[in-house]
Amino acid sequence: MMRWVYLDNNATTPLLPEVLEAMRPYFGEHFGNASSIHHHGQETRAAVERARESVSALLGCRASEVVFTSGGTEADNLAIFGLARPGDHVISSTVEHHAVLNACKHLAKDRDKYPGTPGCEVTFVPVDGRGLVDPADVKRALRPNTKLITIMLANNETGVVQPVAEIAKIAAEADIYFHTDAVQAAGKIPIAVSEIGCDLLTISGHKLHGPQGVGALYVRKRTRLEPMVYGGSHERSRRAGTENVPGIVGLGKAAELAVTGFERGDDHAGQKMAAARDHLERELLDIEATGLNGEGAPRVPNTTNIYFDGIEGEALVIALDLKGLAVSTGAACSSGAIEPSHVLTAMGLRPERARASIRFSLGKQNTREDVDFALGLIPETVGRLRELSPVWSKNAVST
Ligand code: PLP
Repeated sequence: MMRWVYLDNNATTPLLPEVLEAMRPYFGEHFGNASSIHHHGQETRAAVERARESVSALLGCRASEVVFTSGGTEADNLAIFGLARPGDHVISSTVEHHAVLNACKHLAKDRDKYPGTPGCEVTFVPVDGRGLVDPADVKRALRPNTKLITIMLANNETGVVQPVAEIAKIAAEADIYFHTDAVQAAGKIPIAVSEIGCDLLTISGHKLHGPQGVGALYVRKRTRLEPMVYGGSHERSRRAGTENVPGIVGLGKAAELAVTGFERGDDHAGQKMAAARDHLERELLDIEATGLNGEGAPRVPNTTNIYFDGIEGEALVIALDLKGLAVSTGAACSSGAIEPSHVLTAMGLRPERARASIRFSLGKQNTREDVDFALGLIPETVGRLRELSPVWSKNAVST
C-alpha cells in the first residue's frame, strides 16, 4: 500500500479526531439556530459561547472581543474594510498573504476609475533579505491621515515572525489601529493580544487542526469597526449571518487543544515540532546548491522554506506527490501560477531561485518517521530533476 506523508500544513491541517468528535453532534441532534429562543437555539447558542471562551483563552482576550467569521480571509477583510474610510492612509507590507495584500490593493484603487472603491492610500513597507519588516520603515511611512497598520505575525510561506509588538507600539504612539494576521501563528506559538498590543488579530480554524470555513477576528473593546455584511445583529452587529455552529464548535475545540498543548509543553507543543523541522532542514541543506529562505529571522516552529537551485519547484512538488509526499511551492492559492512567489521576490530572491523554492510545513500529526520518509525521497528526486535540467547543467558547467 502506498504511504502518504503530508508536509503541507500551512495550506491546511487535518482535523484532530477530538475536533471532529466535538463537531459531530452539531451536524445532527444539535441543529438549532443559535439565535432561536427555544431549547434548540439555546443549546447551540451555549456551544457558540463556549467556543468563544476557548478562542478568547487562546488569544488572551475577552470573549466579547471575538467575532466569528467564515475564515481568515473574511477576518482580514473585516479588519481592513471595517476601519479604512475614503481618504485614509493604510500601512501594510510586501509579504502579506493575499487576503491582506489584495484587500489593501482594492482600498488603493482610483475612485474615479473604480466607482464604489474607498480610494485610500496604501504604503507597502519592504522586508529585508531575511523577510523581516523594519519597524523604523513603518514609523517613517506614518502620515497625518494614517488610520491603520496591518502587518502579519507569521508568514505563510517562510514562517518568519515579524516584530509585531514593536510595530504595535508605533501604532499606539501615533494613536492609530494595528491589525495583525496571526493565521499562521495561532496554535504554533503562544499568542497574547495584550503582549502584542494589537487592536485586531485574525485567526483561521483550518490552520490549527480545526475545520475549514471558519475563523475569528479579535476586535479590541471600543474599536469602531463598521460591518462588511449587513443583516441581523449577530456577533454584536459586527458580522451578520446565522452562525456556522459546527465550524465554530470545531474552532473552539482546536483552540482549547492548542492551549492545553502550550500549558503541558507536551509533544503537541512547539519544541518537538521544531526539532523535527530542524532535522529536516539540516539534512536538506546538506544537498548541494540549496539554501534557507528566512535564514536568521525568528520563525514559527513548523515551517521551512528551501531553494534547490536548478530545479522548477512545481516539478519537484509533482515528482514528490507521485511518491506519496505532499509539499508545496508556497501559498496554496497561487500554486500552479507561473509567477514566482511575491514573498520570496520581496526578500530579494531572483525569480529562478524563488521558483526553485519549496515550503515544508509540519503539523501535530507528523512524526519523526514522516520526516525520515521525506528525507528518503527528496535528495534523490532533486538529483534526478537536476540531471534532466538544462539550466542545472549550465550551472554546473559555469561553476
Ligand atoms: N492569512 C494567512 C497568513 C494565511 O496563510 C491564510 C491561508 O492560507 C489566510 C490568511 C486565509 O485564511 P482562510 O483560508 O481561512 O481564508
